[in-house]
Amino acid sequence: MRALALGSDAIVFVSRIWQTTCTAVRANDEGFVIDSPVFPDELEALPSVLEQAAFPVSGLLATHADWDHLLGRLAFPGASLGCAESTAARLQSELGGAQRALRQFDEENYVEGRTPLSLAAYQSLPAPGRLGLGPDHELEVHPAEGHTADGAAFLLPWLGVLVCGDYLSPVEIPMISEGGSLAAYLATLELLRELVGRAQTVVPGHGGPIAPARALDLLEQDATYLEALDREGPQAPLPEGRRTAAQRAIHERNVTQTKR
Ligand SMILES: [Zn+2]
Repeated sequence: MRALALGSDAIVFVSRIWQTTCTAVRANDEGFVIDSPVFPDELEALPSVLEQAAFPVSGLLATHADWDHLLGRLAFPGASLGCAESTAARLQSELGGAQRALRQFDEENYVEGRTPLSLAAYQSLPAPGRLGLGPDHELEVHPAEGHTADGAAFLLPWLGVLVCGDYLSPVEIPMISEGGSLAAYLATLELLRELVGRAQTVVPGHGGPIAPARALDLLEQDATYLEALDREGPQAPLPEGRRTAAQRAIHERNVTQTKR
């Protein structure tokens, strides 16, 4: 796992698998951890690394309900978990789904030593909405749907950081999962264009932090890909630099998922 400081009040952790990101932010005596790394040793390292850096953990946030972003409780079992209303609704309708997907991943990859993941209680946040952090700061919650049926992007204006969930990834093409939609994905990209304009750093769900110019570049590439996917289905060209076998497999699933 890599750890990258963004100024003095944000740290981004990048998992060894899928470059899944986890972002810790602080304001005075309060702090949030957004999303999670994946492997048990990465999750075990989080509390001590954050304690050494004097990053308090007042709560956890998740950008969406895909299991690889939901593992924060394994590192901070007592912490509250906040997510957008749409994500709360998905957690409610897919009870046990994240745990089953986690177990399957662990079995396929010979991962041992996992403690049980509890997602029994979570706080549903209105999106759009705001969440106070300390007396002086507010985190913005924006709806970000299309990759899945649920999701939020979190903007931290006092840090200039945008944590956008599974969009604008430098390593992964747009993925339309079950419940997701191409039209909603494109609409989210348009909303993100505005939010990127207010950020100095963008942290996508997969791949390290990027500068706004790079994020806007990826936004154009992703919109072009999705429009081609809509028109041409399987023939849609993949964005340059993201044409590996793994990305082609995602493309094939996108074709199935968007077939009418
Ligand atoms: Zn993801």
